[in-house]
Amino acid sequence: MENKRFCRACELLQQMMSDVANIQSYMDAIAPEDRASDDEQTRRLETCKTCQHRLVDGTCFACGCYIALRTLPKHSACPKKKW
Ligand code: SF4
Repeated sequence: MENKRFCRACELLQQMMSDVANIQSYMDAIAPEDRASDDEQTRRLETCKTCQHRLVDGTCFACGCYIALRTLPKHSACPKKKW
């Protein structure tokens, strides 16, 4: 039986890169007319940036979403009603 070694850091990095690719593909799938305006996205992201529910991996603890994805759709809303 082969004894395979693995690096936990490399495994995590690989998972993060896969997550980023998935998030980007979800974002790309949102039609331009269904997206919030650039100003509105910026306002939402600035609010999230200082929010106590924001986690270091870019997700929101209140809803579990990736913030970049949550703030993009026009009709999206903050689970804590901050935007
Ligand atoms: S979506 Fe709302 S609750 Fe979540 S990090 Fe942003 S402002 Fe905070």
